[in-house]
Amino acid sequence: MNLVLFGPPGSGKGTQAKNLVKKLNNFQISTGEILRDEIKKDTEIGKKIINNMNEGKFVDDEIVNKLMKKVIYDPQKKNKLIFDGYPRTIDQAKNLDLLLKDSNQKIDFVFYLNINKDTVIKRIERRKILEKRSDDDLNTILKRYDAYMKTTRPVLDYYSTKSNFKEIDGGLKIAEITSKISSILKV
Ligand code: AMP
Repeated sequence: MNLVLFGPPGSGKGTQAKNLVKKLNNFQISTGEILRDEIKKDTEIGKKIINNMNEGKFVDDEIVNKLMKKVIYDPQKKNKLIFDGYPRTIDQAKNLDLLLKDSNQKIDFVFYLNINKDTVIKRIERRKILEKRSDDDLNTILKRYDAYMKTTRPVLDYYSTKSNFKEIDGGLKIAEITSKISSILKV
């Protein structure tokens, strides 16, 4: 089963992805983590993306799509993908469809964690203290939220009319969201 977790930064995608990984024995595909790892390892890609990442801007579609291609074609991960933070643009959504089709896969469900800006700000400020993420200062948070509204929100329209699209109130408690997702997946 392949799943997409969709929603603004701070909506709980990562937390839910981790819960689902345990339940389904799938893989969490967090583009944010993959990109942060490139920076940590100081790779060529890492050097290219560090400024955008720290400023809360998106990394180029071309770079992200290339990294995702490797993941989607990995035979170990086939039909065990939980996307967290991808796709974030229409170009990425179309690319995902193509790569899945080419590798005989599909998205089983898109879960949209719907949450308002105030709740996002509160959550990310708390996460900054807990996880010490360098891209989590308030200015960056606001930029990331605005980037989401401008560039990622259209992806919602791309998915929302499809039958595998499920909207969930992202303001609910973590366990409540997990249980809603579980009941849809029947796991
Ligand atoms: P996240 O950990 O998902 O909140 O992502 C952290 C940062 O990584 C974002 O603010 C972007 O700079 C970058 N990023 C993560 N996923 C993507 C993506 N799909 N496309 C472009 N940039 C991304």
